[in-house]
Parts: sequence; C-alpha cells; structure tokens
Amino acid sequence: MVTVLDNRSSKDQPRHPEKANRPDTPIQPKPSWIRVRVSTSNEYAKTRDIVRENALNTVCEEARCPNIGECWEKRHATMMIMGDTCTRACAFCNVRTGLPAPLDIQEPTNVALAVAKLGLEHVVITSVDRDDLADGGAQHFVNVIQAIRVRSPSTTIEILTPDFLRKKSALETVVAAKPDVFNHNLETVPALYLKIRPGARYFHSLRLLQQVKELDPTMFTKSGIMVGLGEEREQVLQLMDDLRSADVDFLTIGQYLQPSRKHAEVKSYVHPQEFEAYRRIALAKGFLLVSASPLTRSSYHAGEDFERLRAARRQQLGS
Ligand code: SF4
Repeated sequence: MVTVLDNRSSKDQPRHPEKANRPDTPIQPKPSWIRVRVSTSNEYAKTRDIVRENALNTVCEEARCPNIGECWEKRHATMMIMGDTCTRACAFCNVRTGLPAPLDIQEPTNVALAVAKLGLEHVVITSVDRDDLADGGAQHFVNVIQAIRVRSPSTTIEILTPDFLRKKSALETVVAAKPDVFNHNLETVPALYLKIRPGARYFHSLRLLQQVKELDPTMFTKSGIMVGLGEEREQVLQLMDDLRSADVDFLTIGQYLQPSRKHAEVKSYVHPQEFEAYRRIALAKGFLLVSASPLTRSSYHAGEDFERLRAARRQQLGS
C-alpha cells in the first residue's frame, strides 16, 4: 500500500510532495462539451461565507470541481471532513497529501451548523483518507452524522467514505449510524489501479460495498468511476457487472479532468453519446439509477438523485 507520511504539515509545503519529481504529463485541450461556469452570484458568495465561518473544507474546492459555480449557487456544498490532507497519493486527485493534523473535535458541530444554515435537505459528507488513525476516522463520521441529525433531523445524509483498508470494524461502526446513502467510489477499472489508485485494492473496495448491503439491506449504496484514464469499454462493462454482483444501487460515471501536469494524463475525452450509451447499458444491467455525463461527479445533483433513487426502489417493490 502506498501511504504518504510527510511530517511537514505546513501549508507552505508542496501540495503533492510525492508527485513533485514526476515528469510533466501532456495536457489535452478540453472539448466543447466540457464547459465550466464561473459564478459571481450572491448565493455562491453566501455558501462560501458559511463554509469559511465554520472552518470547513469542501471537496468542491479541494478537488477543483468544475461544477462549483452551479452547485454553490444552489447552496450545495460537499463537506470534506477530517482535514485537508490525505494519507494516500492517488494519481488523479488534487487533495493535498502528507501527514494530517489531529482530528478537530469541533468539526461535527461546525458541519451540523453549516448544514442548518445552508438549509440542506440532503447533504453529502466525504473525507480524506486517514490511514494514520486506528479506526480510519469511522467514529468521526458517526459523530458528524449524529450532530447533523440533532440540528437538522429531516436532512437526509449521504456519506462518501474512504475504503477503511485494514481498519477492523470501521465499516460496521459507520453503517450502524444509518446514513441514508453509503457511497464508496471504485474510481476506475481494476487494470488501472496500480497506476491511478496505488494505495487501494479493487476487490477490497468492491467487497466493502457488498458488506454494506449485507449489514443493512435497506441502505442505498452508490459508487462512481471516472472515464478517460485509458480504460477499455469492455473493462467498464465488467466493472458494472462487478458492482451489480455487490448489489450496488446507483452508479455515477464522469469524465476525468487532470488537475495539473503532475497528475495522470487525460487519455481521452469521452463523447456525451458514449456516456449515454454507458447509462443505458448500466440501467439494463439492473442499477436502480445511473448518472453518466462528462460533468457527473459523485455529489452532483445528489439531492435530486436521492429522490429518484427512492422512487425507483418504490417502483421496484411495487409500492
Ligand atoms: S459536484 Fe459535488 S464536489 Fe462538485 S461542486 Fe457540486 S457538490 Fe461540490
């Protein structure tokens, strides 16, 4: 497992020390269908202010998400808990790597305050990987879920977790807190793991999703991948079958965008028609819901999609 432990925690340090000496990768110009909208609206500024006032990190900013203008105008921010520094070193990811600071015990309260101020009906909570913690941060996820439930009892909660690799009982701890949606991203096809997600194991991630359903068959499960990293179409179709074997309900597929020249290169920009073909095939394979488009991200339109997910299950159960 590749775990980056850089004991210099200052923000003056390079954001990705493990990538600093890598050769630059080429950057392909973006096609016309990848459009990033910049927002200067009041609602965007209000979302940013609430995030700052509560000293929160968001994956929207840390991952340089292309949808931030649209999402923050609607006050949809995805909180990234347990700090801004990750102990893994994925080749696609823009989140800072190194040795993280100790957990902030105020964070669950601050997240709950922000969710209430933003008036979120559905919130997505994700985190950095915390291989340095004995439970991988499982109890902190629980504390955040419980704090939100106290202040905003009607808000539905979706968590997007790390893989809790070698963290015994971490998954059971988080599932027992009963989030409404449990999301864990496979990110890419197994053939590319060593290059793209070297600290993770494909079958461990798949098994994690399967175990969620075994622990609580009523919990919605969700996973996502990026395309354009060099995967073959047949490999994507096999991954869909793998996720269905793990009884995953909801699949998201989006275009990989390269954060810098030190990150994995974009091998291809997948055409919107190919995304639509993936969506149809995945639905035919039995997913309750599939979101596939160039700008699809795990948390993009998550609230609306949760309503669709519930409706799809009701229809499936004939109620
Ligand atoms: S898609 Fe998700 S990560 Fe991106 S801006 Fe929207 S809420 Fe944030």
